[in-house]
Amino acid sequence: MTDKPQGFDTLAVHAGTAPDSATNARITPIYQTTAYVFNDPEHAADLFALKAFGNIYTRIMNPTQGALEGKVAALEGGTAALAVASGHAAQMLAFHALMQPGDEFIAARQLYGGSINQFNHSFKSFGWKVVWADIDDISSFEKAVSPKTKAIFVESIANPGGRITDLEAVAKVAQKAGVPLIVDNTLATPYLCQPIKHGANIVLHSLTKFMGGHGNSMGGVIVDGGNFDWSKGGKYPLLSEPNDSYHGLKLHAAFGGMAFAIACRVLGLRDLGPAIAPLNAFLILTGMETLGLRMQRHCENSLKVAEWLAKDKRVAWVNYAGLASDKYHALQKKYAPRGAGSVFTFGLKGGYDAGVKMVKSVKLFSHLANIGDTRSLIIHPASTTHSQLTADQRAKAGAGDDVMRLSIGIEDAADIIADLDQALG
Ligand SMILES: *Cc1c(COP(=O)(O)O)cnc(C)c1O
Repeated sequence: MTDKPQGFDTLAVHAGTAPDSATNARITPIYQTTAYVFNDPEHAADLFALKAFGNIYTRIMNPTQGALEGKVAALEGGTAALAVASGHAAQMLAFHALMQPGDEFIAARQLYGGSINQFNHSFKSFGWKVVWADIDDISSFEKAVSPKTKAIFVESIANPGGRITDLEAVAKVAQKAGVPLIVDNTLATPYLCQPIKHGANIVLHSLTKFMGGHGNSMGGVIVDGGNFDWSKGGKYPLLSEPNDSYHGLKLHAAFGGMAFAIACRVLGLRDLGPAIAPLNAFLILTGMETLGLRMQRHCENSLKVAEWLAKDKRVAWVNYAGLASDKYHALQKKYAPRGAGSVFTFGLKGGYDAGVKMVKSVKLFSHLANIGDTRSLIIHPASTTHSQLTADQRAKAGAGDDVMRLSIGIEDAADIIADLDQALG
């Protein structure tokens, strides 16, 4: 054994998944159980009081879920993680630990359409107000800061436009405001970008996408960077103040650098309930073993497709940060040097109607609302994922009428290009 830190691909295979201590099974079992027998009444009491850590009930904790959390935390360089039922559940629980009714958070406009909906509508009914800013204008984040601001939220590679956020610049604004920077790292995965190294305090994923990678299970995760002082300034009472539901325990004082992940588990997950199914945790764990291999191929194929589209007469424009000519290329080299990911957009000269025609004509591509599958996927956001937004919101989110979004799979690049060629008509 050596103390040398292991490489990404070694961690992807091994982190969190030592042979099972109960059975010596090499592969982490699917712990398909709801509850766990207490050793004795004292053990039960200690577990409920958080004096000892252990399994009580699968809504709060499960060993298959725990293995997944260990793997993600290791790959992101965080102190701890919490896996939940979906990416949206991860967002809800992360904000639940930070926000009180009447509080605000700042979010980049350049986000997954579902997140824009969640922030604008459902979070509003919790009394949480989103204030929008723009990744192309960092001063818009500074201007949005108020005494009620509790967090700043951005995507590292923004869905669907494939735009890259200047994480260090936004982290500076967050530090000055005394609030955590939350980064949704779904499109990049830790293989391409590790936001904690660039000043993020909390990293979120939809595990449904590249992390699981095979389009077969929903999941989400919250990673605690362990690098934020929750007790300073009294802004985060759930973390710093005595908790009535745990005999007056102060989570930050008791758990230090893991306090945020623990708060999301023992308060948010306990009370709001979006637990991940053990089977889904198992499928995502299996998928994650090949994360590096898949991301490498996703990026290689995407660059080939983007270069091909950029030369095609039927195409008005291509937004792919991996292209040397792209506006975000310099930021990509800094934040995602191994590749620009595989989700990006291009514009059709024929506009809305050409977009609808194209999704009808593809054969290899699947027309559906997902990304991050081994299979190549296509969608016309204006008529689907972003159809609930106003035309103005759509355009600002990078999803105007002529926009097509691709999620390039790991098939042979020549076959992917041939299908796009015939579908462009
Ligand atoms: C899909 C997605 C989400 C939401 O995740 P679900 O697992 O579908 O709930 C959040 N952020 C981004 C960037 C996504 O692509």
